[in-house]
Amino acid sequence: TLTSMFEQTVAKYPNKEGLVDLRLGTRWTYQQWDLEVNKLANALLAEGVDKGDRVSTVLFNTAEFATTLFACMKIGAVFNPINFRLTAQEIDYIIKDADPKIVLFEKATAASVEGVAVSLPQITYWSIDEDELSYAKNYYDAINHSQTSKPDCLVDEDDIYAIMYTSGTTGAPKGVLHSHRDMVDQALVLTATLRLTQHDRGLTVAPMFHCAELHCTFFPRVMIGASNVVLHHFDASAMIQTIREEQISTLFAAPTMWNMVLQEEYSQEDFATLRQGLYGGAPMAPALTTRLHDAIGVQLIQAYGMTEMGPAITVLLEDEQISKAGSAGRALINHDVRVVRTREDGPADPDNICDSGELGEIVVRGPSTMKGYYRRPEATEEVMYKEWYHSGDIGYFDDENYLWVSDRVKDMIISGGENIYSREVEDVLFDHPLIIDAAVIGEPDEMWGERVVAYIVSKGKLTEDELDEFCTSSNRLARYKRPRRYEFVEELPRNASGKLQKFKLRDQQESRS
Ligand code: AMP
Ligand code: MG
Repeated sequence: TLTSMFEQTVAKYPNKEGLVDLRLGTRWTYQQWDLEVNKLANALLAEGVDKGDRVSTVLFNTAEFATTLFACMKIGAVFNPINFRLTAQEIDYIIKDADPKIVLFEKATAASVEGVAVSLPQITYWSIDEDELSYAKNYYDAINHSQTSKPDCLVDEDDIYAIMYTSGTTGAPKGVLHSHRDMVDQALVLTATLRLTQHDRGLTVAPMFHCAELHCTFFPRVMIGASNVVLHHFDASAMIQTIREEQISTLFAAPTMWNMVLQEEYSQEDFATLRQGLYGGAPMAPALTTRLHDAIGVQLIQAYGMTEMGPAITVLLEDEQISKAGSAGRALINHDVRVVRTREDGPADPDNICDSGELGEIVVRGPSTMKGYYRRPEATEEVMYKEWYHSGDIGYFDDENYLWVSDRVKDMIISGGENIYSREVEDVLFDHPLIIDAAVIGEPDEMWGERVVAYIVSKGKLTEDELDEFCTSSNRLARYKRPRRYEFVEELPRNASGKLQKFKLRDQQESRS
């Protein structure tokens, strides 16, 4: 279980720095962290939280988040970390769906939680920083008199450890269930792939509620006994400063976060201790990978995956970044990844495998596959056809078994009967030295069905004509794929884990027409 993984690290490295939260200046050894976890676990039991009950958090990256996580594990409660950037209405939806006993929140998220607290008074609310709220108790009051002894609970590897709600870019968010075993397997393969050791010092700067940070880097580091420094939220200059001051050797950041680091002032010296930088969760344009590689001189590793799979299923390693730039790499050793032919009238057959170079849907199977969507058996059945998870991503394998992710099925543009994958157009736009960010979507066109529109964030003045000339002269983009219209914007809608929210661009477009 994840519980025994944590306890084994505590036993092996009791006096090692386990958790550093820069917000409060907290520096806990693994043993001190474990005592905090026990106190909270006992407090949760005292509050009536039983095995299988949900505990939700609407927290940024904090020591309390990291403590709640392991406290839930020790008593077999199901941890439900909620995206702190969601609106009050979205948080309300998730809390009603997950039906927790306790909700933990902080000052920065109180405004979104208050309405829920008023409408669902049967739930207990704990604030980690305020103590004068009529609807909530103070977290520290709740745990201060609690025992530091290990709670007496049996947790099995097949018990559900967490419910994580997927971004839900279409339809209502669904709660992904993962067992302890799923995550032990994911942590093991990543520890090996990233070659982590107890000497590593990791930085958590991407949101911990998302599995990319929590499962691909945080758990593997805890498993191996590395140290963990936690930044409350992403801020490019704070990230650079912390890498330098805390001698960080490994971290994960979403492509858009790395992109923002490049817009900051820094020297290569700032990154001297950083032996690897992970990215993933969304595509990174090859031009950006090269810029990053040259600018900060750090070894990059990409992970591709999805919450339902734990998430990582493929990795592009350090030495492949330039030669295979733009690819998502090869399957992790314990994952089976295929690209299969899609069909109109149902889920793709996982045995109808595409040839190399042929585009199809990416499907996968492996030990960290979700146990299903919470209370949605039909939705589970739909994506788990023949026991392969159907990702909804389109891609292909090249003849060296590298996976290339082209687009989400839903984001693909069909113009004049031809498929256009937004990513290929975006990647070309990123080659332009003045373009900082780009998103490509389709808009209705009477003649062609859809036509390509590009949203551009640039750091200098650009015109439509210049960009059209740039795309036309690129030998990587057929003429019919080039944008027919450009919109110049200040920033693009992205969620907390850096994914483009193209549905927002489409909504904007519709409301204008
Ligand atoms: P989520 O469920 O929030 O984990 O999102 C999963 C989706 O993010 C995948 O299905 C992909 O569309 C996208 N994604 C994740 N990692 C990558 C990557 N390295 N490259 C391209 N797309 C990615
Ligand atoms: Mg998803």
